[in-house]
Amino acid sequence: MGSKHAVPPPVPEPIPGGVVDSHTHLDACGATDPDILAAVLDRATTAGVTAMVTTADDLVSARWAADTAGKDPRVFAAVGLHPTRSRDLDDAARAEIEALAARPRVVAIGESGLDDYWTTRRDDCAPLDVQREAFAWHIDLARRTGLPLVVHDRDAHDAIVDVLRAEGAPGTVVFHCFSGGPDLARVCADEGWLMSFSGTATFRNANAAELRRAAAEAPEDLVLTETDAPFLTPHPYRGRPNEPYCVPHTVRDLAELRDQPVDELAAAATRNAQRTFRLAEQPQP
Ligand SMILES: [Zn+2]
Ligand SMILES: [Zn+2]
Repeated sequence: MGSKHAVPPPVPEPIPGGVVDSHTHLDACGATDPDILAAVLDRATTAGVTAMVTTADDLVSARWAADTAGKDPRVFAAVGLHPTRSRDLDDAARAEIEALAARPRVVAIGESGLDDYWTTRRDDCAPLDVQREAFAWHIDLARRTGLPLVVHDRDAHDAIVDVLRAEGAPGTVVFHCFSGGPDLARVCADEGWLMSFSGTATFRNANAAELRRAAAEAPEDLVLTETDAPFLTPHPYRGRPNEPYCVPHTVRDLAELRDQPVDELAAAATRNAQRTFRLAEQPQP
């Protein structure tokens, strides 16, 4: 890793009206340390990030997310098991995730879905049949609780759409870190599924071209913005550490791509996040 990678991206000028980081992992940013949590949230506030949904990938993370959302007005939680960890979804885990989902300021179920990238690269990654069963359980939980479902889709676009349709999609579905092209964007638009764009939609490599076409075409009322921090730092800071304060970098890049005023796109994405996660209805901590 070169020395420039250690330098965090600059804190951007806030976008008037603010922005929401619809999907982040505060614990993975080091924020289980209370001092680091305070610093991460303060940097986000400085950049005009008004709300963050910190998302669980395992049970420890889910407990921490629910606890942290209960303590700070800027933080909301999503609880579930990451698809790569689907083997951990035993009866006790199901009962605990259900209990956490009922806690105040837990605004979504997830992240769940299918990950066909790590299946061939990591021995501890759950195989696809186990992932599918866990995904179906999260879909059912989202339906029963009325909470939105946050979908993780890595190299699995068609299979995800198939499972959602076969199981019966919950009322609100978010494709977090949307990674499809215009075809998947059209499916989402037809179904009313939200597309949450991360730093990957700002990348300039050849692989990102189809994703950027999708981001350019996505209907405004279905667009969310996220960091997925500490991963996927937006262009031109790729490879450096990511945090919620970086989401305005992505919003500015997407606005240029969509040929749309920045504050207009930010306002739409904020409205969409408030509607999707019912942020205004959540109790204050
Ligand atoms: Zn994910
Ligand atoms: Zn994530």
